Amino acid sequence: MSQSHLLRQLPAVNDLLETPQLQQLAERSSHAAVVHSARVTLDQLRNELRSSTDEIDTLKLSVEAVAARVACLVEQEEKPALRPVINATGILLHTGLGRAPLPQAAINAMSEISRSYASVELDLVSGKRSQRAVAVERLLTELTGAEAALVVNNNAGATLLTLAAMASGREVPVSRGELIEIGGSFRLPDVMSVSRAKLHEVGTTNKTRLSDYEQAINESTAALLLVHPSNFAVVGFSSSVTLEELVALGRERGVPVIHDIGSGALINFSEYGFADEPVATDSVAAGADVVLFSGDKLLGGPQAGVIIGKREHVSRIASHPLARAFRVDKLTLAALRETLQLYRHTKKAKREIPLLQLLGASVDSLRTRAGELAGKLIESCPGLVTEVVDETTFLGGGSLPAQQLSTVALAFQPRDAHSSLSVEELAASLRSGTPAIVGRINQGRLLLDLRSVFPGEDSALADAVQTAATGK
Ligand SMILES: *Cc1c(COP(=O)(O)O)cnc(C)c1O
Repeated sequence: MSQSHLLRQLPAVNDLLETPQLQQLAERSSHAAVVHSARVTLDQLRNELRSSTDEIDTLKLSVEAVAARVACLVEQEEKPALRPVINATGILLHTGLGRAPLPQAAINAMSEISRSYASVELDLVSGKRSQRAVAVERLLTELTGAEAALVVNNNAGATLLTLAAMASGREVPVSRGELIEIGGSFRLPDVMSVSRAKLHEVGTTNKTRLSDYEQAINESTAALLLVHPSNFAVVGFSSSVTLEELVALGRERGVPVIHDIGSGALINFSEYGFADEPVATDSVAAGADVVLFSGDKLLGGPQAGVIIGKREHVSRIASHPLARAFRVDKLTLAALRETLQLYRHTKKAKREIPLLQLLGASVDSLRTRAGELAGKLIESCPGLVTEVVDETTFLGGGSLPAQQLSTVALAFQPRDAHSSLSVEELAASLRSGTPAIVGRINQGRLLLDLRSVFPGEDSALADAVQTAATGK
């Protein structure tokens, strides 16, 4: 049949709207949503007909078939764009998946605080106005040994605000090896230029010495900035200056030192196999004047930027006009407070912070779970080859790039290369299900990595794979 003939066979929008299926849907959803989806579907079909070289099954163009497609689209668009996901990528701090899941205590606090009015800026003892973040900031100073603390929206905001308050119009020497980009939108040179601090590049990409900073300091120098290269590593012929050395130089020349540590560990991560991750407390102890980090990376809390350090500097940062623009809401404060509270007892933090639970799972326990899941799926999905494989993964979220994490994954591929379901289709089907499941495709197989899956999600994961693979 000719293409123009096929195009003429397409039903009209009105014919579609008269089908019982779409009439019911319009009543339940909305007339406008159904009309919109009908137009989009017809456009898609026209494009498919024009670009297709294969024989088109005319049954696909019947009023009923097109109406069913419209209904699918309406239902898809009704699902909220922000939905819970089972993270089977293996990447524990996946920025695209919202980084750290929150501890139960933080979830409870957010729920309680959002339901009613809250003492956001009222001191309930004195009845007077207070700063909104006093309690959280007190906890931060207790846990890190810093004199003062300030919480803002994220670490990008913390960096921008700190530089604007401490160095606007003045120079800040930074090593050429630390002019980092974190996930595209955060590029240190750009952040510095928005803050109006003048970037004074020192050293080279692979080697920066103390003398490079020494020579860069002049009467216009406002601060020295040391940035943790969170998402890459320079190996081989390289050297950089330690915080201790920079602090000694800063003291001698009367210049404050800002340390952007990025992921914000409050405990030592060496027991999880990660050496060299800066701990906030150590930076404070080493004498950094201001330390910056994220709330939703290794801290395992809500999205936030934490600024801690000497009172003189933190007060100045807090009173900068931009501080208001970067301030956090009551929900973030409530969640951060509860997360920090857990760190008062390291054991409690390890037990109750989801990120630390996932990190602490032994490879053996992952293998056992994978074995059980594979046993079920081999039986229920004969069309798939299901295997348990040892893998490695990364923390992600701009943390610890060079350090790999041992993990175990389920690997799937169609038993028959010409099977109706490709690996890509299986992945897409899992992504669009409820709950949505995101894995990773590697060498023609779909991997569902258990390092980032909570044990309580295992059975939902198995059910979803079975549904995607067999339609049952
Ligand atoms: C992640 C990171 C940032 C950005 O933090 P956000 O909380 O994502 O805004 C800034 N600096 C360093 C060193 C980082 O690792």
